[in-house]
Amino acid sequence: AGTVVLAATPIGNVGDASDRLKALIANADIVAAEDTRRLFDLANRLGVHVNGRVVAYHDHNERGKADGLLDNVETGATVLVVSDAGMPTINDPGLAIVRRAIERGLPVTCAPGPSAVLDALALSGLPTDRFCYEGFLPRKHSERMQHLRTLQGERRTMVFYETLHRIDDSMDDLLEAFGPNRRMALCRELTKDYEQIRRGTIVEIRDGVREDPPRGEMVLVVAGASDEEASAAAPSALSTEDLARLAI
Ligand code: SAM
Repeated sequence: AGTVVLAATPIGNVGDASDRLKALIANADIVAAEDTRRLFDLANRLGVHVNGRVVAYHDHNERGKADGLLDNVETGATVLVVSDAGMPTINDPGLAIVRRAIERGLPVTCAPGPSAVLDALALSGLPTDRFCYEGFLPRKHSERMQHLRTLQGERRTMVFYETLHRIDDSMDDLLEAFGPNRRMALCRELTKDYEQIRRGTIVEIRDGVREDPPRGEMVLVVAGASDEEASAAAPSALSTEDLARLAI
């Protein structure tokens, strides 16, 4: 059999494309791309020719397309899966073909590379030993607040994707859910010329967003709860003191 290869593509700086990515774009039998025009644009900028067949593979058709693509893998084809930017499957198409490949016992591998989650986390200056990726927050204020409340006791560093349309509202909601003093970072235009990381407390970042609205693509990284905040968020849970007593 051939192989499914998930490949990460640049999230802004085309120089982040690896030699492996270039070779895959040139040599894959089939390229399943979230947006075929963007794939050709990337190939042009990298100076590589796409020799294989290119098919559109996006959120709306990925379940339907996965098996057909895998039939080709079964007969020896290399199927390259790319999204518009970053790692496929991370808030992008790809999961359907990975799941079906696993179910059908077909090989699937990854050519790793840029992804905004790890880039932002590493630059945030917040603890990286344990973190959780939260993707995009719900659009509606009530649902967003409800979701943020479930995270009030979360001790791990939290990573959220955000859009410029909602950043103002989301910052107000983060302030309400986590309080003014939690540390955070707003990471925008990563790997691009106007890359900017704003670090501070939630209230500082919120005020900064009001005064100087950030443009472009952005990721929010928020520190996890301290011991105090975590026990306040889960009053029924045993406190550190309770645990110490129990250990005696
Ligand atoms: N698959 C991608 C990845 O691995 O990062 C994520 C795709 S998701 C549809 C797009 C979101 O990722 C943006 O709204 C933004 O939150 C984040 N993002 C992507 N590129 C970025 C960049 N250069 N700087 C900051 N955030 C970025």
